[in-house]
Amino acid sequence: MSNFDYDLFVIGGGSGGVRAARVAAGETGAKVALAEESRYGGTCVIRGCVPKKLMVFASEYAPAMEDAKAYGWNIEAGDFEWPRFRGALEAELDRLEGIYRKLLAGSGVETFDARAKVVDAHTVELATGERKTAKHILLAMGGRPIKPGTPGEEHAITSNDIFHLDKLPKSILIVGGGYIACEFAGIMNGLGVETTQYYRGAQILRGFDEEARGLVSEEMIQNGVELHLGTNVIEMEKTGSGIHVKATNGDKRDFDVVMFATGRHPNTEDMGLEEVGVKLGRKGEVLVDDYGQTDVPSIYAVGDVTDRVNLTPVAIREGMAFVETVFKGNPTKPDHELIPTAIFTQPEMGTVGLSEEEARDHGPIEVYATSFRPMQTLFAGREARVLMKLIVCAATRKVLGCHIVAPGAGEMIQLAGIAIKMGATKEDFDRTVAVHPTMSEEIVTMKTPTRVVE
Ligand SMILES: Cc1cc2nc3c(=O)[nH]c(=O)nc-3n(C[C@H](O)[C@H](O)[C@H](O)COP(=O)(O)OP(=O)(O)OC[C@H]3O[C@@H](n4cnc5c(N)ncnc54)[C@H](O)[C@@H]3O)c2cc1C
Repeated sequence: MSNFDYDLFVIGGGSGGVRAARVAAGETGAKVALAEESRYGGTCVIRGCVPKKLMVFASEYAPAMEDAKAYGWNIEAGDFEWPRFRGALEAELDRLEGIYRKLLAGSGVETFDARAKVVDAHTVELATGERKTAKHILLAMGGRPIKPGTPGEEHAITSNDIFHLDKLPKSILIVGGGYIACEFAGIMNGLGVETTQYYRGAQILRGFDEEARGLVSEEMIQNGVELHLGTNVIEMEKTGSGIHVKATNGDKRDFDVVMFATGRHPNTEDMGLEEVGVKLGRKGEVLVDDYGQTDVPSIYAVGDVTDRVNLTPVAIREGMAFVETVFKGNPTKPDHELIPTAIFTQPEMGTVGLSEEEARDHGPIEVYATSFRPMQTLFAGREARVLMKLIVCAATRKVLGCHIVAPGAGEMIQLAGIAIKMGATKEDFDRTVAVHPTMSEEIVTMKTPTRVVE
């Protein structure tokens, strides 16, 4: 008989925490509890992937309706009704949250709608003051958006707030160059908001393949986003009607709304972690070994709170690896290699493996790349271009990276990711018959290297 209240206490009901709790309780019969201080489903469901993707869908109807005219449709786009969309969005998130609650209850997980913090290696304290003990504690508190410390930044919103706007602004300034900033620039622009984006760096989407991010940037500008690179906000102040912004490029302008998408920090403040011996990194991330174990053997961590690869499917995998390791006696390291991912800009970017710049450090490579105007939008008279790119190791012939900028790139990269994860060579791609007429057929028909890098 265990002397603890539970075998596992999970703090945080987001992607990683819910999966770990459900699998531990449902598949191993462990006695599991989970505390969530806000809404079940966490960032992904409530203020991340899901509402964002629904907003991307909403914003894509404007160009689609324009293009329909070229295809013979007599169609005029009416106004976009933000309150109607927001109502439907909120109803959908309520539905999804309900599913998460049901899944936990159905697996036998006891839930506490409260903030929890760690008191010692086996004890957590709920905001109600109640204390619970557990053989293992799993930290799955995720992260939150942070603002950079700009004077007047209290007048700006973050991605957490953008889903709840009372009305759609006439103009918005988005500050940042990461995927969240770029995705929301595309969304707002598509919804008809005058969209300006400032990014202090030389190019958006730092860390991704240069050619791919260059094309996304060009296309965003082409679509109407006023993108200023090498530009940052100096200060901002509230005026009667909006927010007055002074920027490093000399701009002194008013915007209805300013949104900072300038990074995220792990939710580890006031959690009692360092006091019990859990080590934190520079950004406050929980430091763990390959199995997700902290310096306190009974305490593990998964997902964004560890600030490794901050993506929903990764948090879920880490949660499952934790259960394998601790509850199934099968030590399992989550695999962080060759993770396919999509950036839902317009056009989308899908990417897996090494960028050309990273691959150059791994020895001689061949680069196969083609950029062209795809049939569907070309017919509608658009200049939009897409990119298909493969990075190949000259010695082993293995495809080291694949980068696609195109509508639907997220769907494409999921499938290319399987081949690349299996170790496919360029010749395996070449042996595969093209699906015609598609954009992605180019990925199996590029015969001659665009560049060879010794
Ligand atoms: C705008 C945006 C768009 C995104 N888009 C994508 C995407 O397209 N694809 C993708 O893969 N990823 C995307 N992500 C990232 C993805 O949402 C996260 O990687 C994922 O949600 C991490 O899961 P998690 O379980 O680690 O944490 P979270 O989902 O953040 O869950 C943590 C939970 O813990 C709760 N919590 C925190 N502290 C406590 C406490 N002390 N006590 C009790 N509860 C607590 C929080 O309320 C939260 O519900 C996006 C993120 C954002 C912000």
